[in-house]
Amino acid sequence: MYNPKSKKAEEFIDHNEILETLEYADAHKNDADLIDSIIAKARLKKGLSHREASVLLACELEDKNQEVYALANEIKKEFYGNRIVMFAPLYLSNYCVNGCLYCPYHAKNKTIPRKKLSQEEIKAEVIALQDMGHKRLALEAGEHPVHNPIEYILESIKTIYSIKHKNGAIRRVNVNIAATTVENYRKLKDAGIGTYILFQETYHKESYERLHPTGSKSNYAYHTEAHDRAMEGGIDDVGLGVLFGLELYRYEFAGLLMHAEHLEAVFGVGPHTISVPRICPADDIDPGEFDNGISDDIFAKIVACIRVSVPYTGMIISTRESPKVREKLLHLGISQISGGSRTSVGGYTTDEPEEETTAQFDISDNRSLDEVVRWLMEAGHIPSFCTACYREGRTGDRFMSLCKSGQINNCCLPNALMTLKEYLEDYASPETKEIGEKLISSQVPDIPKDKARDIVVDRLVRIANGERDFRF
Ligand code: SF4
Ligand code: SF4
Repeated sequence: MYNPKSKKAEEFIDHNEILETLEYADAHKNDADLIDSIIAKARLKKGLSHREASVLLACELEDKNQEVYALANEIKKEFYGNRIVMFAPLYLSNYCVNGCLYCPYHAKNKTIPRKKLSQEEIKAEVIALQDMGHKRLALEAGEHPVHNPIEYILESIKTIYSIKHKNGAIRRVNVNIAATTVENYRKLKDAGIGTYILFQETYHKESYERLHPTGSKSNYAYHTEAHDRAMEGGIDDVGLGVLFGLELYRYEFAGLLMHAEHLEAVFGVGPHTISVPRICPADDIDPGEFDNGISDDIFAKIVACIRVSVPYTGMIISTRESPKVREKLLHLGISQISGGSRTSVGGYTTDEPEEETTAQFDISDNRSLDEVVRWLMEAGHIPSFCTACYREGRTGDRFMSLCKSGQINNCCLPNALMTLKEYLEDYASPETKEIGEKLISSQVPDIPKDKARDIVVDRLVRIANGERDFRF
């Protein structure tokens, strides 16, 4: 029985509720009056239910679809301005006991070299990331009780935060590791992580069990209820995601929004972020074997529909996607992207020959961080290296209430400009620096409050003179 407040996976992600939702969406995909009323509700910018959003996703009326795209763009601008938060993944280990059929790290893959970084190697990777200009990392590791126990993850987080190379520092470590216990989530919280991110992969239980034939991840309920345990362990910010291509996208979309509704219903806070990865090639993995692949156009529609359904939730896209796709999606609601990423273990310090790669997936955007930053600025976006909220204790419901009142915008633009200035001073190429300086000058007048604007002007000068780490 569907119940968003239930703590049981099969009740808050109720299969029949999803089937009925899809039936309802199909029945109304050309119902102009209903679609108009849903778009009118979305214009209030307080979100949509999974049923309403599913109708928009199914909608076949081109003029209404265009209205949804325009609204997604408007919400993106109103809530996130033209800022894009930058991050990079850091792969610690590809040892894994699980059997996920879509991931090259699955335990039965005997061709991929296995590697786990020592603390010394992590230091070298972090220095390389700092030298690129990164301040925010997403930590990745396979699940392996012997090679990657929680103690290893905790020690690695400590190492990462301790490294201060030149003007560099990693100021926020988000963690993407396997579902674990409340006790372990508490330890992660105490280690100072930002967001705990766990992708559901697929919300379709039967497919989930087929795609995860072995290992602890094969337990659908344990995996799906992980975000609840993370929140019970004190982690305020959790991230959701599905791997599009595994199941029917409309099923996943409804499940994803039901999961968000569940978190809101139980904890009073929706997901901090939603990631939208698509399955892509890797060692031992051929995306063609999965028959639910989605086109770029459908992908864009999914992003736009998520944007209008959960305006307060950040949306993340990785270098799995090409620059062309990324550019399109930035206007439809994406607020965070990775840049200069390596998806192999030790990839920031070693060049692996192709036949010995430890990469989790092939990258479609191979540009350096400097190139991505420049590209963003040339397209009118402001790359932001801001990590202020979590460091100022603005997490969970506190963060969401600031978002909902619109007050967070008073912090985001000043922080984006100051962290971009740091980047330009310390890491940018001369060409990127020139474009960035002009961009900052053009954006300062847009800071709404006089006092904040004066403070930023003063701090930009101080950053040029060598001071670092100002924040609102
Ligand atoms: S997706 Fe995660 S759990 Fe599954 S095989 Fe890959 S690393 Fe292991
Ligand atoms: S001020 Fe907070 S919400 Fe805004 S960019 Fe920085 S961390 Fe994100």
